[in-house]
Amino acid sequence: MALIDFHCHIDLYDDPFWVAQEAERRGVYILSVTTTPSAFEGTQKLTAKNNRIRTALGFHPELVSSRSCELSLFQKLLPLTPYVGEVGVDGSKHHRSSLEHQCEVLMNILNMCAKAGGKTISLHSRGAVKHLLQILEAEPLAGRFVLHWFSGTDRDLAWASDLGCWFSIGPAMLNSETGRKKIRAIPLDRILPETDGPFGMTAGQPLFPWEANQIANTMSEELKIAPCELNKIFSDNFKRLTALSL
Ligand code: MN
Repeated sequence: MALIDFHCHIDLYDDPFWVAQEAERRGVYILSVTTTPSAFEGTQKLTAKNNRIRTALGFHPELVSSRSCELSLFQKLLPLTPYVGEVGVDGSKHHRSSLEHQCEVLMNILNMCAKAGGKTISLHSRGAVKHLLQILEAEPLAGRFVLHWFSGTDRDLAWASDLGCWFSIGPAMLNSETGRKKIRAIPLDRILPETDGPFGMTAGQPLFPWEANQIANTMSEELKIAPCELNKIFSDNFKRLTALSL
């Protein structure tokens, strides 16, 4: 069984070297996302020899305002990877004031992705799902959209599915009854597991990428599908998405 974590911040753990080493030892397949363009090269070096771990070029919406000078670095690094993330928009209390600017930067990023022939993009949308979906709808050639830690309404979910979005599902989404219900409406052939570690936690402890297997167990109860069958679905989805990303 392949162990997959499609959204993890390896560079932000207390000991990134140990996490990278341990992930290698355990054979985990990881999309290693970053939060700033300047973090990309260092993060890529952490796992450079590991073919199972791919580093995504990111620009987190919470950092877009204070680091807008890094957009040119983003453009320069983009040809180095088929994976982009974490990017997106955040409309929560502390970041709402920069939402308009975040939207502009995201449009800019998606436009660069479209010009580059399309990328696989891990997207943040807390408190701004409608803003995000509007932007995605306007730039369909940007590539394959993977909505990470999705928290929209049922209608948003239907909209995102119609746009062909993929969903990476983590423990936070499985913690609440409404989150678990939502999972039933996600197309099974576009679901991948994620930990969002070290931000994703269980029992107050940061999740490690190899703990992504907990997600299949929890989803299994909700969907009435055996964990091994779910893991097979995750593996097939992962193979399909990475093949599309080449
Ligand atoms: Mn994240």
